Amino acid sequence: MMANETISLIPEILKEYKLKTLDITGGAPEMHPGFKELILNTKGLNIQIIDRCNLTILLEPNYIYLPEFLAENKIKIIASLPCYEEGNVDHQRGRGVFQKSIEALKILNKLGYGLIESGLELDLVYNPQGDSLPPSQSGLQEIYKEELLKRHGIRFNKLLVITNMPIKRFATQLDIEGKLISYKSLLKDNYNSSNLDSIMCLETISVDWQGYIFDCDFNQQLRYINTTKPYSLKELLKEKVKFEGMPIAVAEHCFGCTAGSGSSCGGSLN
Ligand code: SF4
Repeated sequence: MMANETISLIPEILKEYKLKTLDITGGAPEMHPGFKELILNTKGLNIQIIDRCNLTILLEPNYIYLPEFLAENKIKIIASLPCYEEGNVDHQRGRGVFQKSIEALKILNKLGYGLIESGLELDLVYNPQGDSLPPSQSGLQEIYKEELLKRHGIRFNKLLVITNMPIKRFATQLDIEGKLISYKSLLKDNYNSSNLDSIMCLETISVDWQGYIFDCDFNQQLRYINTTKPYSLKELLKEKVKFEGMPIAVAEHCFGCTAGSGSSCGGSLN
């Protein structure tokens, strides 16, 4: 877990670097004892705050206060729902996850999340089940909206479509199944330069739990950098670092961001 001392630097960094968004993620970032305080200490900075929520946390006995807290503080929610079919979600995320997610989404809708006029944004995230490219965002979003409304009365704002990145656990799994090389080729063969304008490393930085910064979440997971060691938040406060024009550390895994219709994951802060 990120230490309180590191968390306390975040409002200062946001102010010093005039950042527009604080995007909080983790297994379930709301479980960090400093989560509420971080939001209360940053909400006055006129920035957008995003909670990457796994939805099921909203039903846990110690966290039933969360939906209202998030709504009161106008926190945008981005939540994973890899399909509108129960079987597919439970297969990917565990048994019972789909029903809990639907229940949580209904709670959020009741508070105004996902309803355009409320100003409370609720985006869902889709990623394919395995070694295939996701379909285009707009077509799938239409189907998701229709199906979730028809089956469960659920509304949301946008569907983010993510390509599975062949690194870490997913790469190991593909390797065991003998699919790693073919999946990497699929990503390369579907390289689409029009995605270059929207890759997340262009306008986000990713901060790990120890307060070190990387170009994106994937580079963070791979500890992949251009410099001899990553900058820390502390260093960013001591010396004003100029990020504009700084080279981004790219490698083979970047084809995961540029294949097909692109990957709309956005940056995050752990
Ligand atoms: S994986 Fe590569 S292209 Fe994608 S966001 Fe990270 S650095 Fe950029």
